[in-house]
Amino acid sequence: MTAETIDTIAAIASAPGAAGVGVLRVSGPAAPAIAQTLLGRAPQPRHAHFAAFRDAAGELIDRGLLLHFPAPASYTGEHVLELQGHGSAVLLDLLLRRVCELGARLARPGEFTERAFLNGKLDLAQAEAVADLIAARSQAGARAALQSMEGVFSRKVEALLQSLIALRVHVEAAIDFPEEEIDFLADPAITAQLENLRTELAELLREAQRGVRLNDGLRVAIIGRPNAGKSSLLNALAGSDRAIVTPIAGTTRDVLRESLSLDGIALELADTAGLRDTDDEVEREGVRRAHGELQRADVALLVTEADHATADLAFFAPLPASVERLVLINKIDRDQLAPHAETRDDAAWLWASAKTGEGLDALRDHLKQLAGAGSGEGAFSARRRHVLALQQVAIHLDHTAHALSTTRAGELAAEELRQAQHALGEITGDYSSDDLLGAIFGSFCIGK
Ligand code: GDP
Repeated sequence: MTAETIDTIAAIASAPGAAGVGVLRVSGPAAPAIAQTLLGRAPQPRHAHFAAFRDAAGELIDRGLLLHFPAPASYTGEHVLELQGHGSAVLLDLLLRRVCELGARLARPGEFTERAFLNGKLDLAQAEAVADLIAARSQAGARAALQSMEGVFSRKVEALLQSLIALRVHVEAAIDFPEEEIDFLADPAITAQLENLRTELAELLREAQRGVRLNDGLRVAIIGRPNAGKSSLLNALAGSDRAIVTPIAGTTRDVLRESLSLDGIALELADTAGLRDTDDEVEREGVRRAHGELQRADVALLVTEADHATADLAFFAPLPASVERLVLINKIDRDQLAPHAETRDDAAWLWASAKTGEGLDALRDHLKQLAGAGSGEGAFSARRRHVLALQQVAIHLDHTAHALSTTRAGELAAEELRQAQHALGEITGDYSSDDLLGAIFGSFCIGK
């Protein structure tokens, strides 16, 4: 796409409502001419000019700052104009109208960032991180999104892509020499290369899954028998952070949700109706919804009591393997037990009291850990789309390994590697469909 063939877009980039300052953004080939008209002379690149913004009749709309960023050294890679006026919805609207009179049109949501992507200023994962940064609900989430926007995630994907391409080149070379193909494919160097790739991929997948948790918050489904203390626990956890507790829209009688932040880490808690077999229609609907909740959860927190714990482990049965399991032995105040923690069968067991609060700090620490707290400087944000793509790559690499080791089918291995490369490329947008781009940028806010 070249600047000559596209139009000029404009939008109010600051949040609606009264504010000290409001920002209007323009991008495209007409930006310099619009700047010149508003300023009365050619603006200096990247200088803040104090200007009187006037309408076509010369009437003053507002006074403010005008900044011109000539292409390609701008956010979108095009000529960009930023107008900063008073943060009044009315004035900004008049200014937007004026800019449109001068040759711009209203921007669609995310269109500035889409142009930045199309002009190679950032890749798709970075563009998504821009939206995630703006929408971040916790400090850890914002920090992680910033890392992705800076390209931390993209660089890891790129490194993996290079290893993948190197392996592909080897395998493709082998099938070009059919008489030596079998020996070539059995070469331990190729197998080792593939194994390294799978190890790197597994690590990146783990990091990306943590990135999704940092971005979306850790989704915790609270499960257990009626009267085990689920609601009490939800209240106790939510009450610990009164400032940020927000009931989420769509709360149903069956699944009660709370969103809270524990030391800058976002948690989505869902208190599900008990997951037991029942003849009652209404209760059955509750159970169905609870099952749905479990499919989406990162963690299932089973609330039980000392003398019910073993039997209640059955609540874990319908869980997908990917869901982390946590057992909370509640009501230790009543049973005169001490708060402590153990690991049993890969699940963490914690003894606590929702009523007195004993042992709940250990639970909070555990949840924070699972949510990616303390994951360090380089922790980056990711989206489910990225995790799915990486899982797809893993499947293709499994198939490649099988083709190489068992069937010695070079053509098949090469095809699997080609598909793996394609799946990986979808993360950064090397391969992307218009539908995907539409879905990603359509969810941005206007002006970004
Ligand atoms: P749910 O049905 O699982 O949501 O359970 P509730 O949170 O409604 O609790 C059921 C009953 O157990 C209530 O009477 C609570 O006051 C009581 N309860 C909950 N947690 C504790 C606890 O830690 N200690 C004691 N002694 N009672 C508790």
